[in-house]
Amino acid sequence: MRSHNLLATVDAIVKRPAAAARWPGIEDVRTADDLRKLPLMSPDALEDLCPPAVTDLALDSVDSGMVLRSSGTSGKRKVLYHSWEFDTRVTHLGARGVRAALTTAPRRVGNCLYPGELNGAFSFAQDLTRRLGAQTYPLGTSMRTEELLEVVREHRIDTLIGSPAMGADLLSDPANLASLASLRTYLYIGENLGAARAAVMAVAIPGLRVRSLSYSTSETGPIGYQCPFQGDGTHHVHDDAMYVEVVDPETGAEVADGEEGEVITTTLTDTGMPLVRFRIGDRAIRHTGGGCACGSHASRITLTGRVPRSLNVDGATISQDLVMAQLRGVGVADPVDCQFQVRRAPDRGFDVLLLLSDRLAVRPTGDEVLRRLREGYHLGRVFAMPGFRGFTLRCVPTTDFVRNTRGKTPFFVEL
Ligand SMILES: [Zn+2]
Repeated sequence: MRSHNLLATVDAIVKRPAAAARWPGIEDVRTADDLRKLPLMSPDALEDLCPPAVTDLALDSVDSGMVLRSSGTSGKRKVLYHSWEFDTRVTHLGARGVRAALTTAPRRVGNCLYPGELNGAFSFAQDLTRRLGAQTYPLGTSMRTEELLEVVREHRIDTLIGSPAMGADLLSDPANLASLASLRTYLYIGENLGAARAAVMAVAIPGLRVRSLSYSTSETGPIGYQCPFQGDGTHHVHDDAMYVEVVDPETGAEVADGEEGEVITTTLTDTGMPLVRFRIGDRAIRHTGGGCACGSHASRITLTGRVPRSLNVDGATISQDLVMAQLRGVGVADPVDCQFQVRRAPDRGFDVLLLLSDRLAVRPTGDEVLRRLREGYHLGRVFAMPGFRGFTLRCVPTTDFVRNTRGKTPFFVEL
């Protein structure tokens, strides 16, 4: 099926010369091996090829379908024109994923995702709930907690769909738990759950099934789904609809089994806006050896984080990797436990606030951490700038980390 869908994708792109021109050599692609000869497509390249200014990549979705937008890396946004046919497929893949993840189907589903602002997650959850034959409660993200709890309690909602942060927030307050007695399942989407949030949720409601709703992006639709034998970041790939590679970011060569690399996706579709060898921005470990305990032969990957984001501080570009390389020296290994905030003052000076999860076993001092950061390659420059006013370290619950409107917790925040 994947081979068939790949050929259909290539044929559709070749028929539209403006799209084909973006991937020289695509006309010769007949197999997945041929695909690997094409260059990787960066998010920056997609930002320059976005509708409405440029519609070269839209096969048939210029005047109908759903328009989504995702934040760009260089300040620009990526806009996607998804056809209705593509959107229907997104729904089917989403529902298939939930069926695979849960042994018993959800019945009453509270949708706590962010609606609007050209974000597709909310309608994705609506549509797949309909496909599953369950009842949906479109709650959104702006409802007061008391009101949300009242709806859950009154209607005996058994499943909530939301961001990992929202789930951990809701369940970390013991006062909320009585109202959540009917809750059996929490389905998260948008980023990995992380060990700290998983622990909060497991303690709050023993036996609660906390599963990934879907590994999905605005650009591609669903890429992966979870089976009951997979935890947090691990997913099967929708192999028939998506060709996923995990490559060395430097060489573009496929990494070996068990090694980490960058996730490259090719949407196998002859409708909407196909993307060929697109750098989606995630890192993952590929598992090729052995099978999954569920018996499926679908490929498996474990998401390990985003491709390091960078932040420009008055001309110095620093990346997540640079910061983590220094923090490892004080016993902090997982970027999920950290948030690096640059707080601007009106006089254009800035403070740096580093938040660490209060669940970490280590408690380094501010002086110790600042000393490490100053020693870091490139990082040292930030703390030697004329604008640098001070450094603060705080250990707080990760629920206190700054989140964007879509519920994601970025590593770098500029305030
Ligand atoms: Zn499985």
